[in-house]
Amino acid sequence: AKWVYGFGGGKAEGKADMKNLLGGKGANLAEMANLGLPVPPGFTITTDVCTYFYAHGESYPKELAGEVDTALAEVGKLTGKTFGDKVNPLLVSVRSGARASMPGMMDTVLNLGLNDETVEALAKKSGDPRFAYDSYRRFITMYSNVVLGLEHHLFEDILEEHKDAHGYTLDTELTADDWKKLVVQYKARVEEENGKPFPQDPREQLWGAIGAVFGSWMNARAKTYRRLHNIPESWGTAVNVQAMVFGNMGDDSATGVAFTRNPSTGESKLYGEFLINAQGEDVVAGIRTPQEITEDARKEAGSDKPSLEKAMPDAFNELTRIYGTLEKHYRDMQDLEFTIEQNKLWMLQTRSGKRTAKAALKIAVELASEGLITEDEAVMRIDPASLDQLLHPTIDPKAERKILATGLPASPGAASGEIVFTSEEAEALKEKGRKVILVRVETSPEDIHGMHAAEGILTTRGGMTSHAAVVARGMGKPCVSGAGSLRVDYNAKTMTVAGQTLKQGEIVTIDGSTGQVLLGQVKMIEPELSGEFATLMSWADKARRLGVRANADTPSDARTALKYGAEGIGLCRTEHMFFEADRIQAVREMILADNEKARRAALAKILPMQRSDFVELFEIMKGLPVTIRLLDPPLHEFLPHGDAEIAEVAKAIGTEPQKIKNRAAELAEFNPMLGFRGCRIAIAYPEIAEMQARAIFEAAAEAAKSTGKPVVPEVMVPLIATRAEFDIVKARIDAMAEAVSKEKGVTLDYQVGTMIELPRASLMADKIAEGEGGAEFFSFGTNDLTQTTFGISRDDAASFLATYTARGIVPVDPFVSIDRDGVGELVKIGVERGRRVQPKLKVGICGEHGGDPASVAFCHEVALDYVSCSPFRTPIARLAAAQAAL
Ligand code: PEP
Ligand code: MG
Repeated sequence: AKWVYGFGGGKAEGKADMKNLLGGKGANLAEMANLGLPVPPGFTITTDVCTYFYAHGESYPKELAGEVDTALAEVGKLTGKTFGDKVNPLLVSVRSGARASMPGMMDTVLNLGLNDETVEALAKKSGDPRFAYDSYRRFITMYSNVVLGLEHHLFEDILEEHKDAHGYTLDTELTADDWKKLVVQYKARVEEENGKPFPQDPREQLWGAIGAVFGSWMNARAKTYRRLHNIPESWGTAVNVQAMVFGNMGDDSATGVAFTRNPSTGESKLYGEFLINAQGEDVVAGIRTPQEITEDARKEAGSDKPSLEKAMPDAFNELTRIYGTLEKHYRDMQDLEFTIEQNKLWMLQTRSGKRTAKAALKIAVELASEGLITEDEAVMRIDPASLDQLLHPTIDPKAERKILATGLPASPGAASGEIVFTSEEAEALKEKGRKVILVRVETSPEDIHGMHAAEGILTTRGGMTSHAAVVARGMGKPCVSGAGSLRVDYNAKTMTVAGQTLKQGEIVTIDGSTGQVLLGQVKMIEPELSGEFATLMSWADKARRLGVRANADTPSDARTALKYGAEGIGLCRTEHMFFEADRIQAVREMILADNEKARRAALAKILPMQRSDFVELFEIMKGLPVTIRLLDPPLHEFLPHGDAEIAEVAKAIGTEPQKIKNRAAELAEFNPMLGFRGCRIAIAYPEIAEMQARAIFEAAAEAAKSTGKPVVPEVMVPLIATRAEFDIVKARIDAMAEAVSKEKGVTLDYQVGTMIELPRASLMADKIAEGEGGAEFFSFGTNDLTQTTFGISRDDAASFLATYTARGIVPVDPFVSIDRDGVGELVKIGVERGRRVQPKLKVGICGEHGGDPASVAFCHEVALDYVSCSPFRTPIARLAAAQAAL
């Protein structure tokens, strides 16, 4: 096996499509070298070594050391320097690079190769002893932290003491001599803490750093990140060793990061930040507030610090040329890291840039119209689940804004919540169902769990590419970063601005689109769907085969569904029409009536309400298919609780409260989800199904008249297990259709179908659809089908399902994403058997899975006709359906 791949000098042994072996960073460094771009030479130790390392008790393949030596010598040749040399030493960086980007999760060591001798050589070569000793102390700090496990603050303390003693406030005030003295103290500190002197042998340093990077693959924050992003542990990380270039070699040196397009908005303009006379991590760490790259951006930001365009025009022009090359080559927006060493530009990284959903849409659509990608590719580029972000609320422009502070608009959307100052607190309150805004001076990878728990993130330090900003954008959470006028006091748990102090628990609203921090809860509005959204959706609609309907119970749901492109209603849960206070009363009367007469009296009250609901639905849907399901209430959701409610029902029915109590006790069930629900109600109390059928048909006749369009209701019978159940209910529905047709003097066109939500129904699908009077359509109720296939109660699963997913007993929550192997098999069987007897049988799905991208892909594969999901998820389903078809 080959364990090490070199790059540099206009060529490389690897290339972009070798990410699995070289990691993202290594593969792209190789690719850039192949493109002839200025990349400091280096080499990548493969992810296979990482796998070997963990499989062999943290040891290396025996050929590795030799391969590293050869590669190191090659880097020396390309740079004209020698590793460990006392005159012209080669210094290197050592960085991790996994297959998938894991920003800030693993470790990096810069300036490796420095020791008491090479630092002198560096001082001489650069003619800048201050720079040399500053680099050395950075190296000691980083190496000690990453490799030796010593805390940063050990060195920070020494530095602060030194600054105090000399009356300095900024690091830049320190002289060469100061750094030299500090280096002595730093090394002493290392020896004190570690019991051994700081390693002087560059080779020992190198292997120490390589081991630490491989070791960091298993650190706690990397594990958390992998879990949250579904990155398998088996992938491992690569290690990149690369010749150092210095952004801190004076005022003609700099380091920065740039996106070829704006990662928040998608706007096609180079976008980024840089720091003069600084080293790599300074920008991302958000310790100094960076400068803008372009003049335009500088003006827009109202900054008085010069842009890169002004300060280093040659390097800027080179960067502009390179970013054009990279975008065309990769056919995507790139996220670049660069360093300028004495006016010479070096590229340290390129990768597909993380972006908000909004930016992703704009970029995909624009790349397609620029001809760089096809429309279908644009469709494939958007993660369907990310569309959720676009459907996030923003602040009502008419709302009053009590602005506390303004920071950077780091991640769009708005959120309100109680302020908390630690990630632990954020998580604890979230568990109690509270909404929080996580406020930090800056965030670090240790805050990932808190950021997840929070509605939004607010930092007082750091730029648009700070940790907080990058991570929040990835999570689709609103973030305001660098709100510098806020003072955070972690001890007192307060945040102060302009003399006003807010305590933990007080409510603020952050607006991640403007950077504003507002006092209190502010009114939000639903998002407007942008032009690019509509364009991309139209491309998706062209590509997909699956129909997309929505589960809509109310007129307002139906309107939302239409707005988001639903092509019909796949499930109207009629019992949900009764949750309003004035209606639930009548339903309780109906349920609790102990004789048919009382039940009919209650039904008579319900009929007009149902009818007008249906008329409205049919009118809104203007002839699009509407599937109405007969009453399917888990009864316990409707039973009265407490004496007051019981008394009310008793009065309405004209009976004693005690009687109602008794009746409620009779109806109480141990297992309501498997109890008296679904078609069992229609069979026991046919008058209920009749009332509903009447309401549906009368409404259909009325809406057909008012809209001038034929209305063909699809009446759906829930929870059947046998053909006999279906026949009984269907007979009532048909009879009612005939009656209404006669009364109104109209012909009624309608279909009667069934839900398939019990394993038996799947198995008996052919019987259920067979012949005259068979079901005219199927809709898979995968919520109940999952419940009944697994034997896991949908309402009680939470207590153990989390353990199951955490331990990998099930790959994902089967109520969220369909269990292809088991539940999916039953769906397949149902489709096959149903279509065997009725080849054109229309089949859909209306369980929650209809809005889950992976489940939508499954539905496409098993040739369903449509999916039906909650109205807000219809765009997700449309896109997922398109991707499944492409
Ligand atoms: C289902 O069971 O999947 C379904 C859609 O019905 P409900 O969720 O109303 O039981
Ligand atoms: Mg169901």
